[in-house]
Amino acid sequence: SVTGKMIDLPNNIHICSDCMQKSFDSMNQQMSSSNFNYNDLFNMPNISMIDLSSLQNPTQHQKVKPKKKEKKAEPVLDLKKIPAPHKIKATLDEYVIGQEHAKKVMSVAVYNHYKRVATDTMDDIDIEKSNMLMIGPTGCGKTYLVKTLAKLLDVPLAIADATSLTEAGYIGDDIESVVSKLLAAADNDVEKAEHGIIFIDEIDKIASSSQNRMSDISREGVQRDLLPIVEGSAVNTKYGMVRTDHILFIAAGAFHFSKPSDMIPELQGRFPLRVELNALGKDEFLRILTEPHNALTRQYAALLGTEQIRLQFSEDGIEEIAAFAEEINATSENIGARRLYTIMEKILADISFDAPDMPGAQIVVNRAYVQEHLRDVREDQDLSQYIL
Ligand code: ADP
Repeated sequence: SVTGKMIDLPNNIHICSDCMQKSFDSMNQQMSSSNFNYNDLFNMPNISMIDLSSLQNPTQHQKVKPKKKEKKAEPVLDLKKIPAPHKIKATLDEYVIGQEHAKKVMSVAVYNHYKRVATDTMDDIDIEKSNMLMIGPTGCGKTYLVKTLAKLLDVPLAIADATSLTEAGYIGDDIESVVSKLLAAADNDVEKAEHGIIFIDEIDKIASSSQNRMSDISREGVQRDLLPIVEGSAVNTKYGMVRTDHILFIAAGAFHFSKPSDMIPELQGRFPLRVELNALGKDEFLRILTEPHNALTRQYAALLGTEQIRLQFSEDGIEEIAAFAEEINATSENIGARRLYTIMEKILADISFDAPDMPGAQIVVNRAYVQEHLRDVREDQDLSQYIL
């Protein structure tokens, strides 16, 4: 009645939980002292290893050390650290060529979104989310713009293709699996994921229109499945519940064969911001090749620089490459900047092959060189390998 319930151990030993705790404490102390030898524990008389699971109610009177307060994590998004729209735009300018209007609208939208998230005013005054719909042809930089934004803001990003989404209950990826993808991009940090961006590409392909492959009914089903998630709900994942209220959703599509108004009205309403992007032309290709930090011409020059080779592109050489990219665009559906990399690989194949044997060389890629290396492609009229 004095000690409370005793803990029964083998060999008819009964011990109160206070004493038990004290013996554990003194053992711990010994073990942490510098001259402690682990083997001593086994050599001590009358001590045998105890199966802790056999203890009865060990916690009843046990002094439980208060759990150390977890260090409060820094807020994932600190309002003070969200760059002003013009700063966001200026950074985007360093990577994304043209699309001035889109860059401006998106900078403001992203700024507003994260400002609301950080101050949590969204719940109080119920301001609509800044979910966005990007409309523009293939290869004009829709995905690239969003990727750059996510990197700049240091938020996780999940990219989903609307055509691969299936209605819940059918085989395939459903929208909830995209939330899991976002969580993976956030290193399974739920809080980080809840401030991430989900990019849904090819949204036009699930807009109802009989010209498309999927049946109207299943397309509409996917659209309906999107509604609660885009609006804000909770998705159960392996690592816990992820709320989607503060996730920024950006949908994109070319809308060649359908219009945004072909989407179900509820879904249209969930994407209140519309941004239109232009098709890229020769001038933009030229700038994409040379201006951004990671422009392809710079990448190749840096790569060959490691072999002590100085690679330069003359103005007319670059113009020729840009003209070829435009030529490809004209032969098929506009594929934008997507094939610049393939074209460059083709042009520089010989140089890249021979480079290691030419240390100290200076190479200028000019119009003649470009024409020479694209001649067979042009003569064959086989541009298919340069087309998606
Ligand atoms: P979309 O999503 O519109 O189909 P992407 O963003 O995937 O096109 O563009 C394909 C690639 O082309 C990008 O990864 C990027 O390297 C390049 N690119 C496209 N548009 C631009 C642009 N406006 N500025 C710089 N690079 C671009």
